[in-house]
Amino acid sequence: TLPKVAWIGLGIMGSPMAENLIKAGYSVTGFTLEREKLDRLAANGGTAAPSIAEAVKDADVVVTMVPASPHVEAIAYGDDGILAHAKKGALLIDMSSITPQTSIDLAEAAREKGVRVLDAPVSGGEAGAVEAVLSIMVGGEQADFDQAKPVFDVLGRTIVLCGPHGAGQTVKAANQLIVAVNIQACAEAVVFLEKSGVDLNAALDVLNGGLAGSTVLTRKKDNFINRDFAPGFRIDLHHKDMGIVTDAARNVGAALPVGAVVAQLVASLRAQGDGGLDHSALLRAVERLSGS
Ligand code: NAD
Repeated sequence: TLPKVAWIGLGIMGSPMAENLIKAGYSVTGFTLEREKLDRLAANGGTAAPSIAEAVKDADVVVTMVPASPHVEAIAYGDDGILAHAKKGALLIDMSSITPQTSIDLAEAAREKGVRVLDAPVSGGEAGAVEAVLSIMVGGEQADFDQAKPVFDVLGRTIVLCGPHGAGQTVKAANQLIVAVNIQACAEAVVFLEKSGVDLNAALDVLNGGLAGSTVLTRKKDNFINRDFAPGFRIDLHHKDMGIVTDAARNVGAALPVGAVVAQLVASLRAQGDGGLDHSALLRAVERLSGS
């Protein structure tokens, strides 16, 4: 029989991921802060719990998908939290993108309660979550990875154990660095092409067929052309991730000269009130710098 799953955090990513597990036959009990997201889970065959404690008390596997380290700490360590109420022997899979150190500390604290932990952040965006083709980068023990693998197989396509606790988060931090720099490069090309009077649609199609092609250019092409910045992945979250990668790189003595500049541009968008927009809105920062 399939393990019973508790799912905490049913946002842009968590909702479709939990629904994919339900479709695959898993029993999923969820908790999240927005009432309408809980109603959506129940309407799609899941069970809406009134609290984290209620959601996790019978679960074999607890998945968390919340914004940042403070949210993971609150839901793990709180009086109503996971470590206080999960069964001994439960497996906690945190799929949020958080600092590697938070994952390492969580694994340590959970061990004392007889709860095993994997960090398993994802890449692929909302579309990747809906289509169940996420890349899942995992940190933790091999045996726990093996136990979680059937769940990961429902949610994603490229699933790799990267190393010990925190390693999944370190790889995700690198992912966010590459994505931000790639979006920034594409945004600069878009403004340059438009100001040069070249047909943008044709230009992006041919660029995508060569070495300049990328998932960013494929997935964000329409966002760039239509100035459609509905999230997607919010600038606020990418700001958080640029902070994670900048800190982690400084700790190991790795230079991120271009990443540091892009982190500043992400921060400037946020400061100008664009934190709720999709990260393709880096185009706006380039337009402002270009006087358009
Ligand atoms: P979101 O803001 O849409 O969803 C977050 C959810 O967490 C909300 O439903 C909220 O109710 C819930 N939550 C927050 N605090 C809670 C608490 N104390 N108890 C219960 N629920 C709580 O965010 P998202 O876009 O789904 O992102 C979630 C994580 O996944 C983030 O770490 C993000 O960086 C990462 N991520 C996002 C994307 C993307 O494209 N959106 C892609 C890959 C990774």
